[in-house]
Amino acid sequence: MGREIGFVGAGLMGRGMARNLIRKGHSVRIYNRTRSKAEEVAQLGGRVVGSAADAAEGAEVVVTMLADPAAVYQVVEGPKGILTSIQPGTVVIDSSTVSPVTTKRVAEGLAARKAHLLDAPVFGSKGDAEKGELGFIVGGDRGVFDSVQDVFQCMGKTFYVGGSGMGAYAKLVVNHIIAVTLQAMNEGMLLAAKAGVDADVMLTIIQSSRARSGIIEMKAPQILKGDFTAFFPLRLMDKDMGLVLDAAHSLKVLMPTAALVKEIYSACMASGMAEDDFSSTIRLFEKMTKVEVRSQGKN
Ligand code: NAP
Repeated sequence: MGREIGFVGAGLMGRGMARNLIRKGHSVRIYNRTRSKAEEVAQLGGRVVGSAADAAEGAEVVVTMLADPAAVYQVVEGPKGILTSIQPGTVVIDSSTVSPVTTKRVAEGLAARKAHLLDAPVFGSKGDAEKGELGFIVGGDRGVFDSVQDVFQCMGKTFYVGGSGMGAYAKLVVNHIIAVTLQAMNEGMLLAAKAGVDADVMLTIIQSSRARSGIIEMKAPQILKGDFTAFFPLRLMDKDMGLVLDAAHSLKVLMPTAALVKEIYSACMASGMAEDDFSSTIRLFEKMTKVEVRSQGKN
């Protein structure tokens, strides 16, 4: 039997997630601020509604996939927001990457209405969202988590971390490491290019050595082609690095590399690169170095 599910946020990631819930036979009510994106999803089934409150009304589970903390506050606490219609017992799965502070505030608001929040940010790209192969990093009550396992399974696999906010913290750790690794690769590949080492050869050496990494495997081929089409827009990684630093400051953890990389994202934002893929940070350094890291097609 399909469940009654409200879905809010049909952006790059949310559209694939919602489609998988529809494909698996759930009855999905979809709200997106820009209606046309919700309508695109609903071509497969489900119903487009006019507000987050309409999506949440009568739902057993509400999934939110939104850009940032401001979007989550708007959708949950704003006029026609989720809190205005949610029923006791409803489980909200927030898959947006937000701060643990946001998670705590939203969880308290829902608890006041006897509803529950799971913070469940994801790893994976829009392709993984379409294929139902995302990784959900989940925080919140274990019993509540167990009660919605079937919903998660439609969209990917799960990693239960602990109480409320733990999913949000763990996700920020992943993105910190991704951003720093990519920056290290950018600098190394630029040094190689300036010295005259072929980019394809250098990449093969990196990925054959202990320096290899999943994010290099995913992003380097795109960089070598000069293709910066957004899979994960730079504005979102800029937001995430800000959240990493907020968490580091509040827990008094020294993260100097995160601070440095955040400055690079800020500079790229100021250069008009917000909507490019986050791998495009290398272009800032290519301009300064007057060399490009591109495939020569020799190999
Ligand atoms: P996106 O394409 O920018 O979608 C963002 C969604 O948030 C859209 O539905 C947007 O509505 C909505 N939104 C933004 N501000 C809003 C507001 N004030 N009120 C209501 N709705 C608002 O982003 P995405 O790539 O799907 O990412 C969603 C989340 O997943 C982010 O937290 C991101 O960091 C995280 N994430 C992304 C990836 C990735 O590869 N893209 C991977 C892992 C995690 P509109 O359509 O009207 O703009």
